[in-house]
Formats: sequence, structure tokens, C-alpha cells
Amino acid sequence: MPRASTAPRTIECPKCHQQLPQWAQQCQFCKTQLFPGAVRNINEATYAARNKPTWTEVAYIVVAAIVALQGVFMLLEAFNVIPNLWYEIGGGTFFGIFGSIQVALGVGMLCHQIWAQFLMKWICVLSILGGGFGFLRTLMTLGLREPDYVGMVVQLFSFCFFCFALYVINTEADV
Ligand SMILES: [Zn+2]
Repeated sequence: MPRASTAPRTIECPKCHQQLPQWAQQCQFCKTQLFPGAVRNINEATYAARNKPTWTEVAYIVVAAIVALQGVFMLLEAFNVIPNLWYEIGGGTFFGIFGSIQVALGVGMLCHQIWAQFLMKWICVLSILGGGFGFLRTLMTLGLREPDYVGMVVQLFSFCFFCFALYVINTEADV
């Protein structure tokens, strides 16, 4: 005999969340009346909750989009669409290469490509280490020279961004 037909089908009480037989008209635990409509609404709510994207899913898309957009920005600088100093001193090629890599990385992440997630994960780890050391060095030289507050804020911000990105990728990625 197939097991599925013998398994009892249950519904959940909207008030006390106990599992009840599907035919129950009243909750045996809290005496709540169970109307067919009420049960259907619970099922729909559960279904909607299951299909709602989690915050890490949304954050993953945001991180990937930031990476891609930063790449586009670098490409615009590489071709001097956005006038910049780097272009004038011959940094166009550098920006072009890194901009292209970043665009590919961001788009790859958006398409849930394993190579992009793997690469981004290591970029995060290296950036966190590098940013952490950079910040420590800035802290240690605080008394020696004029503190670079803007630089410190930028360092701290990118440190937080990469920590956040690493957490999100670890949660969402398939690697
Ligand atoms: Zn109940």
C-alpha cells in the first residue's frame, strides 16, 4: 500500500499553531473555530512567505549590482567619458582592464555563475585583510602625522562593505 495515502494530512491552527487533522472544524487545543476560508488564508500566507525573497537574496543582488556598476564607472573613466586625472597620466588601459573584469564579475554574480562567486569571495577576503591592515597602519601613525580622516572613513567603509559582501555570498552562493 502506498505510504502517501495513509499519511494523515494536517492543517495548522491559526491561533496556537498546533497541527490538526484536515477535517477538523474546531481546534482541539484552543477551541478556535476553523472555517474553510481561514484555513485557505493560512495556506496562502505560508506559501507567500516561502516565495518571498530573503534579505540576503536581495542583498546579493545589490552587492552584484554595485560591483558591476563600479566596473561600468571604471570603463567610462578608461575612455575618458568621465574626465579624470588617471586617464591623463596613462591609466586608461589599467582602468579598462579592471573595469571589464569588474563588469564581468558583477554580471556573473547576477547570473549565479560559480566562477564569479568564487572570485568575489576571494576578492572579499583579500580586501578585508588588506583594508584591516591599512586601517591599523593608519591608526598606528595617528600621532606621527596629520590624520587622514577621509582616508580612514573610506577604509572603514570598504572594510564593512566587503565583510557584508562576504557574508551575503557565503549565505547565497552555491560555492
Ligand atoms: Zn488552536
